[in-house]
Amino acid sequence: MTPDLLIEPRPPTKLYSSPRTLDAWLKPKKPSVDFWHAPAVIAENHFVYKSLSNWAFNVAVGCSHACRFCYVPSTATIKQGPKLAEYGVKDPDAEWGDYVLLRPWDERKFLASLRAAENTPRKQLKPDGNRAVIYCSTTDPYQIIRHPDAARQRELAAHTRFLVRRSLKLIRDQSTLNVRILTRSPLARTDFDLFKSFGKRLVFGMSLPTLRNDLAKVYEPKAPAPSQRLATLRAAKEAGLHVFVALAPTYPECDEADLRTTLKSVAELGPITIFHEPINIRAENVARIEAQASNMGVRLRTDVFATRETWQDYAVKSLHTVWGLARELSIEKHLHLWPDKSLGGQSVADRMPNPRKYLERLEHWWHRISEWPK
Ligand code: SF4
Repeated sequence: MTPDLLIEPRPPTKLYSSPRTLDAWLKPKKPSVDFWHAPAVIAENHFVYKSLSNWAFNVAVGCSHACRFCYVPSTATIKQGPKLAEYGVKDPDAEWGDYVLLRPWDERKFLASLRAAENTPRKQLKPDGNRAVIYCSTTDPYQIIRHPDAARQRELAAHTRFLVRRSLKLIRDQSTLNVRILTRSPLARTDFDLFKSFGKRLVFGMSLPTLRNDLAKVYEPKAPAPSQRLATLRAAKEAGLHVFVALAPTYPECDEADLRTTLKSVAELGPITIFHEPINIRAENVARIEAQASNMGVRLRTDVFATRETWQDYAVKSLHTVWGLARELSIEKHLHLWPDKSLGGQSVADRMPNPRKYLERLEHWWHRISEWPK
């Protein structure tokens, strides 16, 4: 931890804070790690303006990385609330990171979903999906499974690995679909050979918002350190994989110097695409972040979340900074910004020096199609 992060806790900000008290957020939760009732299949995804994939394969409901900003509890798991309650998860948002419910394997159902994806007419598909399946969109395919019983932990970890490897082999051998692997975990190295066997049909990437391990420890408390991720990306490049990087989401503490450091290291990888988005406000994620920071005795720059306007100004500045740095490093052709849809409001545009140009640029980024190896 660097000294500038080590200061006294402060109460959460008002505007985006949770109806829960800080104590409720910090109360220890009973972990729930088990099998989910529905099997793992390839399902259509609902990304908007991300250009990541057309489909997703998710190995679990929940994620052990416990990223405090995670957007998943505000979308996917909200619909699963009643079912999650049967697994002892009372509050899917507050308990995010404490439950991992692995999907069982049903080869017949998986193959049916694979055929459905394979046979989808191309004109029905959003072109920005690159006809790819993402591993994963609402969890991490290479997360660490933690269970109090060592034998059960081994069984669940082996199952996770089986899910990923078996499904990938079936996609490789029985379809023409592409695959995008997106993870925060160096455990992915164990499958580099399998990835390699896909040739140009697979791209491998990691989320790397900063190289500061201390900062990541606050925002992504149980995820592997950024230094490990950078080493994994370098190993992927050396193994001959097609690599992409998601600087996502970057934090308010990621100033220009920090972003430059990260982008310089990323540029050395020669990635096919560098995605970037500043942290967005989703459901109660700001309250989650503040509870985590308070628990660690750390103060963050959560003042940027004080009002819609302060967050919008922060987000636009961050996107602009990354764009400028990408040009400085001559990697702008590979940059793919993810401006949130809410930044397209007229009230935001009116605060820009040239509102029309600003809105045109947003349209450009929203409709950009990410690169795929040729
Ligand atoms: S790795 Fe992804 S899905 Fe898992 S907690 Fe972090 S952001 Fe959410």
